[in-house]
Amino acid sequence: MTREGRLHVAVVGAGFVGTTLAAALVRRGCVVTIVARTRELSGASEVTYAWLNSHRKRPEAYQALNQQGLRHWRTVFGPAHPEYVHWHGHTVMVSDRLHKGAVRERFDYLTSLGYPAEWTTAPSVGRELSIHVAPDAIAANFPSEGHCEPEPIRAALVEQLGLSGRCTWKLGEAVGVEDQSITLRSGARVGADRVVIAAGNGSSELLSSAGFDLPMVAQHGGGPAWGFLADARVPAHSLCRPVTTDRVNVRPTGPDALLVQALDVDEAAGPEVEIGQSLHEEYRLRLVELLGREDVEITRVRVGHRVIPADSMTVAGPVDGNPKSRVWTIVTHSGITLAPFLAETVAAEIVEEREDPALETFRPQRFAETESESAAPSAPRLPGEQ
Ligand SMILES: Cc1cc2nc3c(=O)[nH]c(=O)nc-3n(C[C@H](O)[C@H](O)[C@H](O)COP(=O)(O)OP(=O)(O)OC[C@H]3O[C@@H](n4cnc5c(N)ncnc54)[C@H](O)[C@@H]3O)c2cc1C
Repeated sequence: MTREGRLHVAVVGAGFVGTTLAAALVRRGCVVTIVARTRELSGASEVTYAWLNSHRKRPEAYQALNQQGLRHWRTVFGPAHPEYVHWHGHTVMVSDRLHKGAVRERFDYLTSLGYPAEWTTAPSVGRELSIHVAPDAIAANFPSEGHCEPEPIRAALVEQLGLSGRCTWKLGEAVGVEDQSITLRSGARVGADRVVIAAGNGSSELLSSAGFDLPMVAQHGGGPAWGFLADARVPAHSLCRPVTTDRVNVRPTGPDALLVQALDVDEAAGPEVEIGQSLHEEYRLRLVELLGREDVEITRVRVGHRVIPADSMTVAGPVDGNPKSRVWTIVTHSGITLAPFLAETVAAEIVEEREDPALETFRPQRFAETESESAAPSAPRLPGEQ
């Protein structure tokens, strides 16, 4: 405790998860030290599609968690950042036979849960969004979904944390965590009442130094952990929401800019990939095909590194399963959709030393209790996967 009787929490990692958590802890009266390599946005939160959804989330418990994440964005977190959160839904339009089957199956599953979804026709999608439509395409809208701009939202949180007077930064690489202290590569130490490891793909190593084994998905190129995103300049495009199609997914990043994804191209993504002209050209051709216009420029292609625990599901809570524990963690895929809800829930658990049933299925202890027998998750390759 600090001299003023406040709980001191050290958060390792300042991606979208670490930053939202730090903000939630400060709101609940804690003093926070953020341990991070940089104050700038980096990691998975820097190269993310930032589609707010609970679209293809299985099993049911994970679907329920993502729906809670989406509701939290709608009702609590999004309204605090109205300029950077866009609720215009999401459209899927596919003509490939396999993709049609996947979309129909998902539509039925989601509507059976009461998730808003409606069939539409491809020609009406084509007219509304000015995109090319295959004659045999099927199309559906998912009106409760949205997208956001993580960078300015995170910057606003960092500013609020500075103004609170209760957040300090310790810049450097954390190399070990034990009980109530974090060791940095420089040899410096940060002591705190609680430590939360929210370091994305760096979490597993830090958890291991704290005596906890957190398996992550295979890290090889072409696997689920890696994906490209391309930035495109498209003057006065009229797309207002994410659109998922057979060969390319797009979402607006500004009135003249789109973010572009092609899931089958992600086979080539990995830690060692060289991003050359042919990749730029591949995205350009797919975009030209979708938009039916030639004045399209790919300005940048980046490779992103997804944060995915071995069973694909969120890991959140005290590492030893005890709500009075010193060491906690949050490691998750879909972290843009989930971070605000997880941050709020875990901050409350830490401060009140209680467990929230909403996170029951997502505790770190599930890896300690059972030999992990779940099949390795496949890479996202079908429309609507992420
Ligand atoms: C291509 C792609 C598309 C995606 N699309 C979506 C989407 O549409 N919707 C959605 O909800 N999610 C999406 N995601 C997932 C989402 O972006 C991530 O789940 C989320 O950004 C994870 O945030 P994080 O803060 O946990 O990790 P990160 O953003 O990776 O942040 C971790 C931070 O910890 C720091 N760190 C790591 N190790 C250490 C250490 N030892 N010492 C100090 N600091 C350390 C890193 O430098 C980094 O800044 C996507 C991800 C990718 C890659």
